[in-house]
Amino acid sequence: MTDAQALVKTLDFQLAIQSDNKRLLHDATREARDVYNETIRLAKQDVDWDDISTRIADDADLVKNTTQRVVAKALDAMENYYEYDDYDQPSHTTTGPYPLRANYEEGYNLTLGDDNCVEFRISAKPYKHVTGVLRGNDAHLDILRTALESDEWRIGTAEALWRGGTPELHVNVTNTEQTVRDKQDSQTVVGVDVNEDNVALTALSEQGVEDSLVIEFPEIKFERHRYFTMRKRVQNAGKDSVHDVLEGREERYVRDRLHKVSRHIVEWCQQFERACIVFEDLKEMRDSIDYGTRMNRRLHHLPFRALQYYTSYKATFEGIPTAWINPEYTSQMCALTNCEHTEKCNRQKKRFKCLECGRQDHADRNASVNVAKKGAKQLNWTVPALNSLPTVRTVRRQASGAVDAPTVTHPTARSHYTDGRMGVSE
Ligand SMILES: [Zn+2]
Repeated sequence: MTDAQALVKTLDFQLAIQSDNKRLLHDATREARDVYNETIRLAKQDVDWDDISTRIADDADLVKNTTQRVVAKALDAMENYYEYDDYDQPSHTTTGPYPLRANYEEGYNLTLGDDNCVEFRISAKPYKHVTGVLRGNDAHLDILRTALESDEWRIGTAEALWRGGTPELHVNVTNTEQTVRDKQDSQTVVGVDVNEDNVALTALSEQGVEDSLVIEFPEIKFERHRYFTMRKRVQNAGKDSVHDVLEGREERYVRDRLHKVSRHIVEWCQQFERACIVFEDLKEMRDSIDYGTRMNRRLHHLPFRALQYYTSYKATFEGIPTAWINPEYTSQMCALTNCEHTEKCNRQKKRFKCLECGRQDHADRNASVNVAKKGAKQLNWTVPALNSLPTVRTVRRQASGAVDAPTVTHPTARSHYTDGRMGVSE
């Protein structure tokens, strides 16, 4: 009944290396091309595939097990040809670099360096190493760091290759123990509503709303505005290099904060029975919004997608499935089952007031309930009738570090956001 999938992921990085190392790596990928051609040539001569590797390994100027991996990759191409004979037979006279496939801790190695960076060491040729630091997508780096520190994750083969003149390393990681549960098998859906300065969460089971939480991060919005003003000022002064430094600093700050928030979200979800995390697919919505300025574009763009992405892959690490729903009406609609009116009072941004039934709620919590309901529908649940909603709790994460306990609640505001106790009917 369950259709759990093993977790395999390919992580792409750029290699920051010196020019002589670059030449060495380029030579190695040219050598890999020769290995490829020779493999294909021998395979066409009907040489036993098990013997090809041994025959080539002695001549190739590569680390032995790396030669074996490259031969295996070339034979994959040959096998594809035999299995799907509508493709052309691989040629043994191809030119240019070929990916250098290497075994972890044999043909290449990775270590956690100072400042949380990941250092690599590739045996390009026998006794000749290319070393440096991996650069690239922050999310991919974060997964790799997790893999380096956790026994559950196995780092597999990697391929060193060239993309547009830049050397890259593509690393395969596999989680041998953990699998992602099939989302159809869920007992709780957690609706996630991401905003510029908070994220609202609502856990919905077949019994009703289990709990709601709003995690506030006003400091991210504040810092982004502050950096924006600073960058604008140096840009007007013609100091483009300073501008770039500030931009890098801002991005690191925002990413670091968003990672902490996403960790908090996943931890919160883990308290519920078989959770599935539901996000709004904002792709379509963004296309339809007309952003006037670069400021608007940046403010709206970054946190939404990044927070969703960080949360979804951290959930994957924990075996929690995710689902995506259409965001239409999630913020306008009254979440109560017997109302579901889509006209709200717009006077106060953070307070939802339904123009039909008069119910008041924290606007983003109301939206997160709608996201959860849509998620439940997508999983073909009979969505429970919601006649009232539980109190919403608000926590603020401090910039100083990990604060998992609620630090700020709004006891005075609570009455506005509360509409009696959770109720279930039918
Ligand atoms: Zn209503």
